Amino acid sequence: MVDNSTSDNKKTVAVLLPVPVRRSYFYAVPDGMQVMPGSVVRVPLGSRQVAGIVTDDAVDDISIKKLRPISESLDYPPIRPELMKFIRFVSSYTLSPPGFLVHMVLCVPTDFSPKPLVEGMRFSGVLPRRMTPARMRVLELSRDGMVWNRSGLAHAAGTSPSVVDGLKAQGVLETVELRPALVVPKPDSSYAPVMLENDQRKAADILQDAVSANCFSVCLLDGVTGSGKTEVYFEAVACALDQHRQILILLPEIALTQQFLDRFHTRFGAPPADWHSDLSPRRRERIWQQVAQGCIHVVAGARSALFLPFQNLGLIIVDEEHDAAYKQEDRVFYNARDMAVARGHITDIPVILASATPSIESQVNAVQGRYRYIHLPSRFGHAAMPNMRTIDMRNNPPATNQFLSPLLVTAIGEVLQRKEQSLLFLNRRGYAPLTLCRVCAYRFSCPNCSSWLVEHRHRAQLLCHHCGYYQSVPQACPKCGMLDHLVACGPGVERIAEEVSQKFADARVLVLSTDTAGGVKQLRFELEAVARGHVDIVIGTQLVSKGYHFPHITLVGVIDADVGLANSDPRAAERTFQLLSQVIGRAGRTGLKSRGLIQTWQPDHPVMKAIIANNSTAFYAREIEDRKSNRLPPFGRLAALIVSGETRAEAENHARALRRAAPRVSNITMLGPAEAPLALVRRRYRFRLLVHGHRHVDMQGFIRAILAAAPTPRRSIRVQVDIDPQSFL
Ligand code: ADP
Ligand code: ZN
Repeated sequence: MVDNSTSDNKKTVAVLLPVPVRRSYFYAVPDGMQVMPGSVVRVPLGSRQVAGIVTDDAVDDISIKKLRPISESLDYPPIRPELMKFIRFVSSYTLSPPGFLVHMVLCVPTDFSPKPLVEGMRFSGVLPRRMTPARMRVLELSRDGMVWNRSGLAHAAGTSPSVVDGLKAQGVLETVELRPALVVPKPDSSYAPVMLENDQRKAADILQDAVSANCFSVCLLDGVTGSGKTEVYFEAVACALDQHRQILILLPEIALTQQFLDRFHTRFGAPPADWHSDLSPRRRERIWQQVAQGCIHVVAGARSALFLPFQNLGLIIVDEEHDAAYKQEDRVFYNARDMAVARGHITDIPVILASATPSIESQVNAVQGRYRYIHLPSRFGHAAMPNMRTIDMRNNPPATNQFLSPLLVTAIGEVLQRKEQSLLFLNRRGYAPLTLCRVCAYRFSCPNCSSWLVEHRHRAQLLCHHCGYYQSVPQACPKCGMLDHLVACGPGVERIAEEVSQKFADARVLVLSTDTAGGVKQLRFELEAVARGHVDIVIGTQLVSKGYHFPHITLVGVIDADVGLANSDPRAAERTFQLLSQVIGRAGRTGLKSRGLIQTWQPDHPVMKAIIANNSTAFYAREIEDRKSNRLPPFGRLAALIVSGETRAEAENHARALRRAAPRVSNITMLGPAEAPLALVRRRYRFRLLVHGHRHVDMQGFIRAILAAAPTPRRSIRVQVDIDPQSFL
């Protein structure tokens, strides 16, 4: 109980609410209501009712009479102190108001409104006045304390629900509240363990030791694609289950990870609860509750699962820890991988980071001894890594208006003959990234954003990938009016599919991208079809790089390896290396001989050389040296301030004001403001400032000082703070 007694001898508490202000809200605790720090309550806010979390913050000396009372203390276990601490940590690390984090914790969409009770029925012991065969069957089923719902009972007894209603009206059946069923049963740690190979066993032993030690530690599990990382960390999961602890597994693309859920099910006899934005509100709420009650043992989720109210969290695993999808760039800018380590630290539990291509940040942490490094250098069983080579596009150009070099076409033909699968990778959605008029050179661009419109041919539309704006593909140029002179420039996956279908008319071709009509369900279905070998040639965007196990793929062709190298992002080389390694890693996972062919205009680029040589060590060593000498993360720190406004001038002015407000601090420099590469998004003009500091500077303190000293911006101005930015657009 919080006892903030005032002179009136009434209680007052501070409540964190899901609103973007920094101050606390105070409420009176009505007589007879029990609340404690962490209690989830419903309170009035203006004319609304909102859910919030009671804190142990000191309450200002204000007259209790003015305060409105808490409406209701909700029937959930209180949010635990370590989650409260985590909320405050993320809030101050990312410079986001704590209310945004409260919103993420209490994210159950039904907003905690009271639910109608689910009614169950059972036999009361009173016999009906008149017995019929139908009534007899109902009674037989509902004897011995069995609880049924109305329609289930009627159905099982082969009668109409009115018979059940009649018995209820006579008091023969009594109603009881039905508890919602468990979302998933408890996984069984010894259900179907696999025999681990030597290296795998050693790795699993280290992880199990970390779990048994029952305190904070970070292990970096670095194993080539197909080395059995999942099997290995499943052993750590088993160990934590035996200790009756809850386990969180973060995956970069959970909505698409049916395969992972199935694998988990096979190993543990029950699936984990899956958590992502595509769940129905009802399922979301149930999972939230059951995680809070401690009766869900394993959650596999997207980054937002980090904010679930675990009762007894004992292990966090971040799979594909290098993946850029862990960075949220919306409202609260945070990297779920880094925040997972923070949550592990605050909760004092082990964290496992797994990847075939670990991020440079994690590698440096391992080298410097902060993380334990565990290496699986070879693939499981008889599977070898694909044989890799580059195709120099200068010497082997495709035919005009085509994109596959003759070498790649020949290779696809051979694979088809052997009845194996090919995967062609191009990280470009749609048909063509640019459409222009051949007569006047007019280019179609988005009216709301500084970006070209991408043609999506099967939808017959030109689409903006930033704001969703679309228009149908016109026949005439809107500028010069000339008919039939619009041309598609460059390829997207749809265009590659068209070329492949022309060359291999009998092949079964499938495009895998997030544009698939039918959403997640259809995508899961298609991924399954690929895994079963129902497709000959798959053409995919980066979606296909996410750790799927496709047993029949023996050729991976990269259509344009240079795409990601062109921009000025300091992580461009690292990202390209990771993406290409992951994509090529889809080939040859079951022991068939396999190849990776990489189309590039710069075969001498260090990234290409590292991939061909299958030698990440030298590549990473160079990248790490590079970062070190430029004091880039993790040897220095970066933060971005992104200012946007309704006019270019107001955005630029405020960005300049921020720059002028910056205090002079040694070891921190500011760059900009400069117009953002994406200068206009959703009709908002954008300017960026970049803050660059030495490793141990107080970056957050510096930015807070800027924001405090700068003039209050107009309402139309938005300032976003991005600590440890991943994107520089
Ligand atoms: P990674 O996560 O490193 O890419 P996986 O864990 O997906 O590797 O393993 C690749 C394939 O090899 C999977 O089909 C997996 O079931 C299989 N595998 C790995 N280790 C073993 C083992 N010890 N026993 C049986 N199958 C294994
Ligand atoms: Zn747009």
